Amino acid sequence: MRVDVVTLFPEMVAHALEFSIMARAQETGAVAFGVHNPRDWTTDRHRIVDDAPYGGGAGMVLKPEPLVACIEDILDAPDAAVVLMTPQGETLTGPLVRRLAGVRQMVVLCGHYEGVDERVRELLVTDEVSIGDYVLTGGELPALVLIDAVARLLPGVLGNETSACEDSFEDGLLEHPHYTRPPEFRGMKVPVELVEGHHAVVARWRRKMSLLRTLRRRPDLLARAELSAIDREFLAEIADEAADH
Ligand code: SAM
Repeated sequence: MRVDVVTLFPEMVAHALEFSIMARAQETGAVAFGVHNPRDWTTDRHRIVDDAPYGGGAGMVLKPEPLVACIEDILDAPDAAVVLMTPQGETLTGPLVRRLAGVRQMVVLCGHYEGVDERVRELLVTDEVSIGDYVLTGGELPALVLIDAVARLLPGVLGNETSACEDSFEDGLLEHPHYTRPPEFRGMKVPVELVEGHHAVVARWRRKMSLLRTLRRRPDLLARAELSAIDREFLAEIADEAADH
């Protein structure tokens, strides 16, 4: 997959992609990142990328000409997604991440100031994505959130030691808790089911903890998750225990 980021602050994005799993993903060729500054597509002497909003008011708006020229230049794949980061977009969720992980090229447009001229959206944007109902000063951090979430799903990006398929949300539930050595820390012991290491016992304990966590923290997820007869039995047991107390 190719991921191109359009930003007025390229160093901010490029630097963040130089570490850990994102760096390894680039090295192995699972993903190729490009970071582009629309200022390089300006044609005026002062390389202006923003201007005051029509109708007045505070803030500046990113001008359409450099943004459109930049995006049109870097667009390569016919099925490319052009994603505008905006608090007005679709909230980022697992299904949206999975859909975007399926395209050959994702161009991510970071807004700044008041945002981008509406005509950029109308001309080129295929998806508008928000990372939550709050407003940040620029689209760079939201773009990095999106890129990390998408890239880690690409084949070969996560090693076996950090497989994505058991993570929270993948099967509609939150993941079970994790423990590592030592077996006892400040009087708190690792659950015996994990220490003994019997495969089926570990799997059962993890499933139960996953159900319990989801029930306590995100009952909304549990209502939509695919549950087996054994899962339902366990949830009924918990409900009975709660009723007894
Ligand atoms: N005036 C815009 C509005 O009210 O919708 C907000 C602009 S915000 C200050 C500047 C830029 O930050 C946006 O263009 C967008 O790229 C990015 N941004 C801010 N909050 C975001 C969020 N929750 N999700 C995605 N991008 C966001």
